[in-house]
Amino acid sequence: MKTEFSSRTREQGFSTLQEEHYDLIVIGGGITGAGIFLDATSRGIKTLLVEMQDFAGGTSSRSTKLIHGGIRYLKQRDFKLVAEVGKERATVRNLARHLVHPLPIIVPIYKGGSMKKWELRLGMWVFEWLVKMQERFLSKGYSKEETLHREPSLTAEGLVGSVKYYENRTDDARLTIELIKKGVELGGKALNYVKAEEFIFDDKEQIVGLKLQNQLTAATTTVTTKHVISAAGPWVDDVRERDDLLAEHKLVLTKGIHLVFKKERFPLNNAVYFDTPDKRMVFAVPTGNVTYIGTTDTFYKGDIQNPDITEEDIEYILKTIHFKFPALQITKADIISSWSGLRPLINEPGKNPSEISRKDEVFVSKSGLISIAGGKLTGYRKMAQKATDMVAHLLHNTVACTTASIKLTGGDFADEQAFLSAEKQTCELALTKGLTVEEGKWIFSKYGSESSAVLNSTIEDTTLPTYIALALAYSKQYEMVIKNDDFSTRRSGFAFFEPEKEELFLNKEA
Ligand code: FAD
Repeated sequence: MKTEFSSRTREQGFSTLQEEHYDLIVIGGGITGAGIFLDATSRGIKTLLVEMQDFAGGTSSRSTKLIHGGIRYLKQRDFKLVAEVGKERATVRNLARHLVHPLPIIVPIYKGGSMKKWELRLGMWVFEWLVKMQERFLSKGYSKEETLHREPSLTAEGLVGSVKYYENRTDDARLTIELIKKGVELGGKALNYVKAEEFIFDDKEQIVGLKLQNQLTAATTTVTTKHVISAAGPWVDDVRERDDLLAEHKLVLTKGIHLVFKKERFPLNNAVYFDTPDKRMVFAVPTGNVTYIGTTDTFYKGDIQNPDITEEDIEYILKTIHFKFPALQITKADIISSWSGLRPLINEPGKNPSEISRKDEVFVSKSGLISIAGGKLTGYRKMAQKATDMVAHLLHNTVACTTASIKLTGGDFADEQAFLSAEKQTCELALTKGLTVEEGKWIFSKYGSESSAVLNSTIEDTTLPTYIALALAYSKQYEMVIKNDDFSTRRSGFAFFEPEKEELFLNKEA
């Protein structure tokens, strides 16, 4: 029997909170909170996760969507970190093969640029040796002519050659929801659109509970717990202030925007990574019928929930495109969608946004609140382990972390061969349901080993194309889709990558 995880279980779940007592409440359903939720639940720690928006409604649906091997750290010659991140990259792929795919990246090398070809080649060899990279994913060096043959739209001026290496591309929001689904399957409770409003303290000023508000009905409730971890991303300081008004601010937020273009207007055969003259890292990533490119990196102080995209941000990315791909003559009119996200970084006064470390940090307040912030999507599992180890220790729970081998929901494949044959079977089943092979592949790319459950769902909305109606029906019953936007932005990715499909949901009841 599959575990229902829907608006019905949400309402029921909220209404019984007052009678329940938890070992741990996790505030925040982004990748960090989701990772902690799964880790804690799998160790037998009774855990509740509350998310005030939809799951992955914060930064975790607004990243560059790469599971990095650590090129950033390679440039800083931090080989230990490179090896650690590289190994983690392989682990995450093994846990969610349907969502994490090898992505060839070309790094063009220019005369006088920030990277030398020999330096990059050497760094890559060290990296590949450290992480025991499979032969087919080893990096390669190309001459100027070979580079332009592979990526004709790159500017030839000053080009010396390039290096091709592999990263992994992912779907950040789906990775988050698959973690949460797995945690729920293992007995945890997770509720979206529920905000942690206030802490409840005992007479020793220790946290013993939370006042929560249902964001859909404004109803409030209280729940008791032994421990609380705040994984509130850019809101970590806000939550810490609710615990201690005088808490010193630990974070600085920087904004990153991405612009999306149709593939015909921005054609790439591989992803391309380059540094801008002001030393920002930019990735242009082809996926499906689009190419997306980002990112900016500027200090941010505005509305955290809806970080804006200014004319200046757009101009910056367009200028960046002209800098490396001048022949494409891309203009603002070519943009089909965009997103903006905030990096919750640990403040390092005096540094500019791109220099601030992406390391994570845990802070424990006098009242016992554990806050975790910083880090990357890529390192979510290790961050989760660090925070969960602390709580397990306090609870005298001696169960070891096993998340390196807990396949996420949808990622239940023994190996690559099993993954490929499951994709084939999904397409065959899709054909029997009157869908096309392409539609079957789309379902498989989102739902992996859950695809047959998707294809066997009962359609509610007959006005939608069948494959979308099936996916929506599944996501409503097993992925707690509450609002249309939950599905069209975070479960399906339509809003970013196929905005014409998002329009199917306009003016519809959720
Ligand atoms: P979030 O995803 O923001 O989650 C925090 C959640 O807490 C939010 O959903 C919020 O609604 C919720 N919350 C806050 N307050 C409350 C409350 N009181 N009650 C209930 N819920 C609450 N990393 C990579 O590894 N690869 C990349 O390619 C990459 N690219 C990036 C590009 C950009 C532009 C940015 C901004 C970041 C990028 N990162 C990347 C970093 C990565 O995306 C973040 O480190 C990660 O998503 C942060 O996740 P989080 O769970 O800590 O925060």
